[in-house]
Amino acid sequence: MKELAPGVWQLSGFPPNGINVFLLEDVLVDAASRHAGRRILRQLRGRTVTAHALTHAHPDHQGASKEICEALSIPFWVGERDADAAENPDLIKERQPDHPVARFYDRIFRGPGRRVDRVLHEGDEVAGFKVLDSPGHSAGHVSYWRESDRVLVLGDVLNNMDVITAVPGLHEPKPFLTPDPAENRRSIHKLAALKPELVLFGHGAPLRDADKLQRFVEKLPA
Ligand SMILES: [Zn+2]
Repeated sequence: MKELAPGVWQLSGFPPNGINVFLLEDVLVDAASRHAGRRILRQLRGRTVTAHALTHAHPDHQGASKEICEALSIPFWVGERDADAAENPDLIKERQPDHPVARFYDRIFRGPGRRVDRVLHEGDEVAGFKVLDSPGHSAGHVSYWRESDRVLVLGDVLNNMDVITAVPGLHEPKPFLTPDPAENRRSIHKLAALKPELVLFGHGAPLRDADKLQRFVEKLPA
């Protein structure tokens, strides 16, 4: 894994930056698809990991959550309005738009549910980061913000690659994978207003060009 900022690591995956998993100090954020468990656990070997948190309970982020929590005997932390879906992933599918790509994601990525041990709220602290509610792509989507060096784990509020073609670049998440695009856009504006200097995405490479994010957001319809 690669250290991006003090105490912030990105695990390697295939394709690179396709579905991201991060270690913030001793908290694992997101768990990719159900096929990723062994790869994630191998990279965590020799590290202290005390909890596993999600940005949101979608199949490409919760797939290996149960396997990892059980293998490491660690608790599972999820934003309040996604907690029921993290426990019962049938709810994820019900809440996603009825679209072939959403159904495909559910079929190939989704992992089993797992009891949620801590429900996350805006303002909570996780590994030196502040939890921020950032709903829209899912009802309980959260992001993680460390003001001291302006690091933002943004999840899927924006993608830094096209999730279908894998071409790099900033995009709003696909509407057919986003139950409430208007609410997600409000979350984009909320997070961009923080003026982050390092942005970590669920999909796509880390972004260190703060101006690029601001320019992208300025061009979005209000
Ligand atoms: Zn995603």
